[in-house]
Amino acid sequence: MNSNNQIIIFDTTLRDGEQSPGATMTQEQKIAIAHSLDAMGVDVIEAGFAIASEGDFKSIQAIANSVKNAQVCSLARAIKKDIDVAGRAIASAARPRIHTFISTSDIHMQHQLKMSEMQVLAAIDESVRYARQFCDDVEWSAMDATRSGMDFLCAAIEIAIRAGARTINVPDTVGYMFPQEYAAMIRAIKNKVPNIDQAIISVHCHNDLGCATANSIAAIEAGARQVECTINGIGERAGNAALEEIIMAIKTRQDVMPYQTNIDSTKIMAISKQVSTSTGFSVQKNKAIVGENAFAHESGIHQDGVIKARETYEIMRPESIGLDRSQLPMGKHSGRAAFRVKLQALDINASEPEIEAFFIKFKTMGDQKKYVSDADIIELIKTHREC
Ligand SMILES: [Zn+2]
Repeated sequence: MNSNNQIIIFDTTLRDGEQSPGATMTQEQKIAIAHSLDAMGVDVIEAGFAIASEGDFKSIQAIANSVKNAQVCSLARAIKKDIDVAGRAIASAARPRIHTFISTSDIHMQHQLKMSEMQVLAAIDESVRYARQFCDDVEWSAMDATRSGMDFLCAAIEIAIRAGARTINVPDTVGYMFPQEYAAMIRAIKNKVPNIDQAIISVHCHNDLGCATANSIAAIEAGARQVECTINGIGERAGNAALEEIIMAIKTRQDVMPYQTNIDSTKIMAISKQVSTSTGFSVQKNKAIVGENAFAHESGIHQDGVIKARETYEIMRPESIGLDRSQLPMGKHSGRAAFRVKLQALDINASEPEIEAFFIKFKTMGDQKKYVSDADIIELIKTHREC
């Protein structure tokens, strides 16, 4: 099951993403996002945490009713009542999944669960078997896996697989890992868990130390074949691995990442905007892939390079994420080459001495304000020609 190069994309924008403080979405917004995720080729949509609220339950149900291709999944603790509600919420999905979890780290077992190792192992067996009564596709997560003892974690995974889990998620719940450590952990699980070939290994990374995408990529190379991620990287605390970063990393670096996904990357920009509008979370300007500046070049040297051949400073084509073209914002760092291109774009014919005079005035304006807009340039030329 783990031998091929196909990566399953599991999007949790509607569950972990919505757990970002302040990111609550309406049912209509969640359904619309689920349809966009389905249309872009996401394999599994985690639509919510059914037991969390009546609203969550109804959203999951509505998504399960209407999504055509993707699997629809609800999260559930290792508690019968949770699994019952999750099972009801996803019952009408064409391809339902229950995602159940319990903590496996000492710190969580002692302080949060107040359960012994034996009790946790028994709960894993029972909850996975119970979830299998609702659907064939059950995912099990070892919450706080990356701070768990390796022997205990492996024993827990073995039990979950024996109980019927098809996907085993090894989340870096607290965003604590570095790439090489996480990769070593995934390899160790592959080596130590005797029945691991009967399940897909999944990863779920948080960005507390800025390593969520790097950790996910390292885990893929180590054998994980499902990646859990969110649009714009939203999620608990510092967020989750960003779907757009994982997809474009794989697409851009096929030389070292020879993997495939079902994602149509040209839909990235549109869904990024949709999630940002729905949650009210604006995307930082320098955010990888989807930030406003991700395909913008201002310095003269960079603008000159991109005008001559955009590969000089661009590793991805803006069209590949659904943008029209690269942007050359005009400001004090812009050079003559970009200024000439801008004049052409604005349909302004000018002699060489005129261009030089305009350029000097444009630079002066650039020193005074952050951006020089098209309207500023037109006005500047008009004023120059009038005097
Ligand atoms: Zn999470």
